[in-house]
Amino acid sequence: MIPQSFPDNRAVVARCADLTRLFGADGATVAAVDRITTEFRRGELTAVVGPSGSGKSTLMYLLAGLDAPTWGDVELDGYLLTDLDEPELAALRHERMGFIFQSFNLLPGLTAMENIRLPETLGRRRRPHDEPWLQQLIERLGLTELLARRPHELSGGQQQRVAIARALAHRPAVVFADEPTGNLDLATGGEVLDLLTELAHESGCGIIMVTHDPRAASAADRVLSIRDGHLVAELGRASAGEIAALMLADAIDAGATR
Ligand code: ADP
Ligand code: MG
Repeated sequence: MIPQSFPDNRAVVARCADLTRLFGADGATVAAVDRITTEFRRGELTAVVGPSGSGKSTLMYLLAGLDAPTWGDVELDGYLLTDLDEPELAALRHERMGFIFQSFNLLPGLTAMENIRLPETLGRRRRPHDEPWLQQLIERLGLTELLARRPHELSGGQQQRVAIARALAHRPAVVFADEPTGNLDLATGGEVLDLLTELAHESGCGIIMVTHDPRAASAADRVLSIRDGHLVAELGRASAGEIAALMLADAIDAGATR
């Protein structure tokens, strides 16, 4: 692995400074992410909340090195992403990041266990799994009895728990989750989010979740509210009602200044 630029950064898993991503040519430029400076801590679930089009996915792609900023910097797990070339970024994603998607993204022909082990199987340079950790994770997610099933034999909540096991199996430093409960009913989504928050606390990884849903964000340790690419507010633990009120107040402010 490439040497870290900032190896002693214990509490912070990712930070960005003046992070900006413009799309389009001169006349019609959109700032999808507009001068965002913030930090994401290890052992915490941080929710990035905002309405559709506010820049959540773009921010996530920039933090994961899947897109490059127009200007500004991202430091992730001690690496300054602009220092890395494409193969180094790919290796960093493979070894130090996990991803959870709205649509679960499991391979239909593989069992739950084969899906969980797939990244390791494909592994170029990924370390072999820490087996005791993997067993603990599988038990923690209630998957022990389900490992031989294929995705079509699992409920939505069970499929997402398999996807969470896959994302955390290699003990990543950071896990990105894009609307992880978007395809789940309210009760199932709530259970999945509580598990994600507990796993962040127990494993020490930083989980960064983007969502438009204040109820989902209420499971987080910290909530960042973004609108039109700007970071407009930062909260600690908050109720769905408080987060919804904050998003509404931002929307009214935005309307008033247009
Ligand atoms: P969210 O995930 O919050 O819905 P996005 O990050 O997808 O928001 O998009 C933020 C803004 O950037 C939107 O105005 C969107 O149209 C624009 N945008 C995102 N990706 C691109 C792209 N590849 N090309 C042009 N505009 C884009
Ligand atoms: Mg999005």
